[in-house]
Amino acid sequence: MLVPVLFLAIALLMAGCGSRAAAMPRSTATPARSAQVQATPSPTSTRTPRPSATPTRTPRPTQTPTATAATAPADTPTHVADSPLPTPSLAAGSPLTATASTTATLPLTALLQLAVPQVATALASPVPGHPTPPTVVLLPTPTPTPLPSPTPPMEPTPDGVVRTVRVPILMYHYISVPPPGADIYRQDLSVKPEDFAAHLDAIQEAGYTTISLYDLIAHLTQGAPLPEKPVILTFDDGYRDNYENAFPRLRERGMIATFFVVTDFIDEQRPEYLTWDMAREMYAAGMSIESHGRNHISLKGKDDDYLVWQALGSLETIEYELGVRPRFVSYPAGDYDQRTIDIFRSANYWAGLTTIQGATHRSDNLFELRRVRVRGTTTPQELLRLLALDW
Ligand SMILES: [Zn+2]
Repeated sequence: MLVPVLFLAIALLMAGCGSRAAAMPRSTATPARSAQVQATPSPTSTRTPRPSATPTRTPRPTQTPTATAATAPADTPTHVADSPLPTPSLAAGSPLTATASTTATLPLTALLQLAVPQVATALASPVPGHPTPPTVVLLPTPTPTPLPSPTPPMEPTPDGVVRTVRVPILMYHYISVPPPGADIYRQDLSVKPEDFAAHLDAIQEAGYTTISLYDLIAHLTQGAPLPEKPVILTFDDGYRDNYENAFPRLRERGMIATFFVVTDFIDEQRPEYLTWDMAREMYAAGMSIESHGRNHISLKGKDDDYLVWQALGSLETIEYELGVRPRFVSYPAGDYDQRTIDIFRSANYWAGLTTIQGATHRSDNLFELRRVRVRGTTTPQELLRLLALDW
């Protein structure tokens, strides 16, 4: 009795090994996927020198927006690289790294662990002389199991439903004490680190959850669920105090945020702005690094070549430095027009953030996302009032 059971268990185990071998071609999906992750960040992934940081004003990056589509591996199910719209992101807010985390090998081992006890129990029921009851045949064979995709297999295109959602997007700039003699603008744009900490505590105690812009877009375009009280934190300009004063306070609370950087300023190593190392560290900790243009010059009333230079230049720089493609632009000084929107959309950005005050967004107007300005004088109570406003 025991012998056939053992024999069968071994046979099944071997079958499992066989199917593991049979599954090998599938399991190459893992390297393929990770290859995709590496490939998508930089189509020029050999790190060919990116457009030089010095404003030599190459009038137009050699790459057209559509050219990047060709770099996506043809056989991978998610099209992060070329899709104009997102696969929904996971909590960290980065669709690229998030997709790579779960591996396809898990279900196989899980199945093997499952299958053997099932065989044992099936055979333990005494059927004298009939060691292989039909139930064994019904046991799952791992091969035809659909490969679970790490990202939900949702359409990367909008599902056609026009959605409206109220998600406040806070807009911060400096998180520091303004230097002596700072002008009124600098003071207005500066939130003291202790005030910022109080903001975060108030947000958290009121039950808000920080989400990423990727989460918002996944909701608007595909109906992906959001937490009950979502809030998005954004920081414009990429000041160094964001790294020194905002980042640690966010991280110690498990909160995420989006930082819109001015790529030429970082390239020029301006001391008051982030370095790329800082940006990489923040990104690795779950923060999003997105585009605020190359040099903070207005994007309004500009011709197509100039807009392409801004859109693709900042995109390619961030992609080169961080290995992840930005999908969002915050219009410098809040300036934009229809050409701005058209060019950034054609460069495969997913959405644009304005300085128009409000918290309600529409899926058919993703390039005019509204925000809630946070000032140096904004108290935690005032912040909560702004967050609750229906606007
Ligand atoms: Zn700005």
